[in-house]
Parts: sequence; structure tokens; C-alpha cells
Amino acid sequence: MDNDCLFCRIANRQLKADIVEEADGLLAFKDIHPQAPTHMLIIPIEHIPSVAQLTERHTLLIGNAIHMANRIAKEHQLSQTGYRLVVNCGLQAGQSVDHFHVHLLGGRKMLWPPG
Ligand code: AMP
Ligand code: ZN
Repeated sequence: MDNDCLFCRIANRQLKADIVEEADGLLAFKDIHPQAPTHMLIIPIEHIPSVAQLTERHTLLIGNAIHMANRIAKEHQLSQTGYRLVVNCGLQAGQSVDHFHVHLLGGRKMLWPPG
């Protein structure tokens, strides 16, 4: 737990968020500035600054994060229409919160390449 970390504070219920699911050491909640009709964030409870800090120890955790994203996508009827999972890493990718998170975006047509 990093007391200065926004997502650690959400994970520890020190900061309110619209939580959708908690399981397997992971938490899913609604993004506060949604970029699509469905926009969730999936985070580990453990503080991991970014995808670059993941090690073999986290292999199961990351697998479970993808399973959680798929499960939420299915619950939001996105399986047929499609959805996007995004992980920003570092400055140039636009990572703004230094606690690893997977974005789940769906409910509208996505563009490619992303901006
Ligand atoms: P990134 O830019 O990839 O680091 O994504 C961080 C995301 O966290 C952004 O989409 C923000 O809108 C979102 N965010 C920031 N603060 C909060 C919060 N308090 N609750 C929910 N989402 C947040
Ligand atoms: Zn954190």
C-alpha cells in the first residue's frame, strides 16, 4: 500500500469509487472520466507502478485481470459488439496514475490507430 497512490487508496476504501467487482486480488471500478459508454479500470490490490514492473510472480494475477475484464465485458453485453483493453505505460503512453491498471472500453466504435 502506497499512501500517496490514488488507486491504493481506492483499493483500501479510503477513497470512494464506483466498484464493480473484487476478486483474486483485483478490483474493478468505473473510470471517473469515461471515454466510452462502458469504461472500467481493473487494478491489482497490490501496488505495482506500471506494466513494466510485472514479474513472473504476477503471471496468475495478470491472467486473472484479463479474465475479470472479459467477465465484465460479457455482463455489459459487449462480447458480440467487441471491446478494447488498454494498458498505458509511462509518460509517452499517457499513463497518469502510477498504479498498474487495465482499461476496459466498450459500447462505441473504436478508432485505430489510437491518438
Ligand atoms: P491512465 O491515463 O492510463 O493512467 O488512466 C488513469 C485513469 O484513471 C484515467 O482514465 C482517469 O480518468 C482515471 N481516474 C483518475 N482518478 C480516478 C478516480 N478517482 N476514480 C476513477 N477513475 C479515476
Ligand atoms: Zn498504488
